Amino acid sequence: MPQQQRLLLTDQPLWNRQQVLAENLILMDLVRTISDTEEAIEFCARRRLLANASTCNRCNRAHTIVTNSAFKTDGICWRCPGCRSVKSIRAGSFFEGSHLPLEKILIFMYGWSRNWAAKDCNLESGGMSMATQVDWANFLRDVCQDDLLRDPVVVVGDHGVDANGQRCPKEIGRDPLEIDEPLVSKRKYDDKERGPEYMWRQRYRGQNYLSVMFACIHVMYRV
Ligand SMILES: [Zn+2]
Repeated sequence: MPQQQRLLLTDQPLWNRQQVLAENLILMDLVRTISDTEEAIEFCARRRLLANASTCNRCNRAHTIVTNSAFKTDGICWRCPGCRSVKSIRAGSFFEGSHLPLEKILIFMYGWSRNWAAKDCNLESGGMSMATQVDWANFLRDVCQDDLLRDPVVVVGDHGVDANGQRCPKEIGRDPLEIDEPLVSKRKYDDKERGPEYMWRQRYRGQNYLSVMFACIHVMYRV
């Protein structure tokens, strides 16, 4: 790694939201793209799931990237060239607090996006404890809920039938006060039977759920 590197990604630009949403990853591509930790870090930085740069809160100086065995999962961390303080590259991100390798989490997220059973997400990502599996499923559900509550629009609820007799999602208005059937409420998004994940999938039906999840995570964490 070059001395004084201040960006996780130096060679190619970060992707904007449109580029993230336009990606249509299949498993083989994902596995090839994140074959080691360094590639997984770059993968996340490019999609703005990890901050590409960081500044020291105390010195207001740009952090540099250093190898550090204390951050053994990622192998690197941010370090301030002034006060020498260090910070995880995951700080403030969706991955903060987790010690799982990013590759493993990304495969888990891929499986989730394909609606695999949680135990298969766990197995195919290389294995994790049941508690960790439940945690990650909950973290992803939280992102769904955050997205639904942030912008409570469009397709929520059961299918209706259009004028041609075709099944179609019920469209609901942006302003809950303007619609007869107030489907939009926090309680509804907390629906214990189907949950926010179900409604989130309804909202983004036909899109690549992994890409949409990346975009939602970026909005939620703003790294
Ligand atoms: Zn500092």
